[in-house]
Amino acid sequence: MVKIEFDREKCTGCMLCVELCPNEVLEFKENIGKGSIIVARPDACCACMTCAGKCPKRAISINQDVPHKRYVDDGNETPFAPLSEDLIVKYARFSEELERVLKLRWKPVAITLIQKGDPLPHVPVPGVRLRYCQSLIMARRGLSILMPPQSHACPDGTSILGLAKIPHKLATGEIYVQLGKLATREAAANMVKERPSLPQGSVRATLVTPLESVVMKPDVVAVIAPPESMMWLCMSLTYYTGKRMNFQMSSYNAQCVETTLYPYTTGEMNMSLGCYGCRAISDLGEDMMFMGIPIDKMPIVMEGLEYLGRKAIPDARSKVYLPPLI
Ligand code: SF4
Ligand code: SF4
Ligand code: SF4
Repeated sequence: MVKIEFDREKCTGCMLCVELCPNEVLEFKENIGKGSIIVARPDACCACMTCAGKCPKRAISINQDVPHKRYVDDGNETPFAPLSEDLIVKYARFSEELERVLKLRWKPVAITLIQKGDPLPHVPVPGVRLRYCQSLIMARRGLSILMPPQSHACPDGTSILGLAKIPHKLATGEIYVQLGKLATREAAANMVKERPSLPQGSVRATLVTPLESVVMKPDVVAVIAPPESMMWLCMSLTYYTGKRMNFQMSSYNAQCVETTLYPYTTGEMNMSLGCYGCRAISDLGEDMMFMGIPIDKMPIVMEGLEYLGRKAIPDARSKVYLPPLI
């Protein structure tokens, strides 16, 4: 349960929180004195924190009950079939090689979009609602996280990934103009129209685990690293072909769309610079960016990386090409 509380002494009644709430949870009520905002639809709050983050007076606090570690009571007729030992070992090797050759600071993350009707693995759900990108950022530190719709906090990411209906203000793009991120409603509507999304209700839950300890076959592997590591990943993919690459980026919805959904729907590797949302809610360094690698592309990427890791990467990193400084 999400608890929304106002500091009535601080609140000036500016209405910004009402305007920016994507789920129309808050309302202005006349004649109730200082601090005239009420929580009209508490059950619609997804704990996205937009109101608290944008309130100029810091008058709002959002609190969530934190139960002990828990699991989804699946109630599925189809029992969950564990991944074969061969695949577990194969993905663990991929993870080890990525970390070793690229000297990654964070663990590569395996992402699975669990389809409607598919059984759920025995992986803990978070005690509080999280944004999808927050779950990825936690998984890079070694946590496995299963998130059905009710565990997701970002209304954008939740609808993009096919877990829930898109709220009206997001569907029209209105909120991006209110947030000052796009100039006009037309531009905002265009941004929404051009980004891909999965059909509402088609995904049952998102699962993120470190690639070294997968429990289901991943759809996409996410790497969070500085630009130099991204360069080697691109070169690994094209090691045998020398082809140029095209990336789909808008700097909106970075981890749900650019790192996950593009690779998932197109089968192509995609790079992302991150977005203001995922950067604001996490400890991501300014120098970090994201790569989403479809699982079917992993063998070719790993093969290319293995060859590059023998000479090209160590040579370049030891700066053997650097001319003498004058
Ligand atoms: S944004 Fe803050 S100050 Fe403005 S109405 Fe909401 S709670 Fe009050
Ligand atoms: S946390 Fe998000 S959904 Fe909940 S009231 Fe604030 S803006 Fe609305
Ligand atoms: S990347 Fe952006 S849109 Fe996607 S879940 Fe995170 S904050 Fe939401």
